[in-house]
Amino acid sequence: MFKKVLIANRGEIALRILRACQELKISTVAVHSTADADTMHVRLADESVCIGPAPSRQSYLNIPAILSAAEVTGADAIHPGVGFLSENATFATMIEEHGMTFIGPFPEHISSMGDKITAKKTMIDLGIPVVPGSDGSVDTEEQAIEMATKIGFPVLIKATSGGGGKGMKVAKTADEVVNAFQLARSEAKANFGDDQVYMERYLQKPRHIEVQILADSYGNVVHLGERDCSLQRRHQKVWEEAPSPGLTTAQRTHLGEIVTKAVGKMGYRGAGTLEFLFENGEFFFMEMNTRIQVEHPITEMVTGIDLVKEQIRVAAGFPLSFTQKDITFNGWAIECRVNAEDAQSFIPSPGKVNSYHAPGGFGIRVDSHLYQGYTVPPHYDSMVAKLIAHGKTREECLSRLERALGEYVIDGIKTTLPLHLKLVGSSDIKDGQYDIHWLEKNLETTLK
Ligand code: ADP
Repeated sequence: MFKKVLIANRGEIALRILRACQELKISTVAVHSTADADTMHVRLADESVCIGPAPSRQSYLNIPAILSAAEVTGADAIHPGVGFLSENATFATMIEEHGMTFIGPFPEHISSMGDKITAKKTMIDLGIPVVPGSDGSVDTEEQAIEMATKIGFPVLIKATSGGGGKGMKVAKTADEVVNAFQLARSEAKANFGDDQVYMERYLQKPRHIEVQILADSYGNVVHLGERDCSLQRRHQKVWEEAPSPGLTTAQRTHLGEIVTKAVGKMGYRGAGTLEFLFENGEFFFMEMNTRIQVEHPITEMVTGIDLVKEQIRVAAGFPLSFTQKDITFNGWAIECRVNAEDAQSFIPSPGKVNSYHAPGGFGIRVDSHLYQGYTVPPHYDSMVAKLIAHGKTREECLSRLERALGEYVIDGIKTTLPLHLKLVGSSDIKDGQYDIHWLEKNLETTLK
């Protein structure tokens, strides 16, 4: 097993990784920007190294600074967390070249899945259904119009190297195609340094269903069930649940089987997630994330498996300690992402947390780096906490969640807790009746 792991991230996920390392008796190195010197995982780590100023480009995305910190502290592995360098194949390769282990998949899988056109082609070859659309990139206005007419309106133009809902534009009619094409390209260029885009049919009322997988270096692959992440605002997940209230047992079993088979054929190693849209009983592959995901805790709650520890174990060369047969699904879990934002305007609200009280009790888990007196810096993602509830049934899970939301106190900054309180009280949510467009359509009435 590794002796010392450097955590190349910040916030709640850095703390999550630190906790897993501590339980595995692995020493930890925190790296941080000047803005994060007082953050919780830095306080709890065995060692810490400041790697640069506040802007991510100069700190959390600064590969030479992170590698130097690892060399200086004698770390034997690096965990990239989520976001930042977690899906950067160059980073993974450089870590290995420096004689350390990247806690994640092989670089070739990061590259092939990071290019969404290649990812879709790979999945088609592996027998996975994909969202109907262009076979490759769409490079000219003429091509865009032709392809859109062929696919049928509405269409979605997406960045090949995209992520986080950026570089995606919908065109409802032929008149809108050229504009949407140009907008998607320039947004893609600005965000990912790559203006290549492709086109898909824009599904009208799908659910976002994703499957968690784990694979070791010996060809063992398991799936840990699905998560439903349909509640989104601006293509960003707000609330996730496991299992999905929209699937039958037969659909669930089928999805798990095709995914496990495909991932086995890929020769993939590590934790990963395959994302699908699900409409009228059909699954359509969208993309694969080659890392741990923000919403991994709900899978942990229903399976009892610590995904971060397993990720570290398989990276260290251990085989999976269980088979598919050993995995049982227990009850229901829901995660609410709590952002430091005004719950009406969604304007970020960084600042000092004057008082803090996290909820507790049976079936409640809070993954957060917040503490009383901590100042949320303005430079990074606004998510500050994940509130996770688990219950024997969906009903019990929802009532625990509602109770815990009522207990949660974060004073001094604005948060999206009020939105979650409204959501948990909504009858559509109670009935599990929602698709990926529900939140955008119902946001105003929900917030009233
Ligand atoms: P990102 O990498 O930005 O997360 P995704 O491809 O995962 O991009 O898409 C993000 C979200 O956008 C999905 O969860 C879904 O809500 C929406 N979306 C993506 N593709 C389609 C599509 N073809 N039709 C309808 N909605 C889509």
